Amino acid sequence: MEAQQSSGPNPLCEIGRTHPRDRHRMKPLPGHPGVWECPRHDLYAAIVPEDAAALDRGDPYPMHDGRPGVVVRHGDERGGGVLLYYRAEG
Ligand SMILES: [Zn+2]
Repeated sequence: MEAQQSSGPNPLCEIGRTHPRDRHRMKPLPGHPGVWECPRHDLYAAIVPEDAAALDRGDPYPMHDGRPGVVVRHGDERGGGVLLYYRAEG
């Protein structure tokens, strides 16, 4: 019943993780369950299966909307997968 149950709380923005004075959380992306965005930093996060965790920073990653994206880094484990931060290419 709970659509958010498998995705959990909003993840911290990757930029905020590395700047303790600028911690902020990402927002769920409407129409894309399990995907979050940070409009301030043009950053996205999604839950991916463990085997996709082999992706490295800078690797190509197809975005939720079909645009080409690149991997930023991995986040915490969540819901049987891991959080993957990514952004649009270029
Ligand atoms: Zn941010």
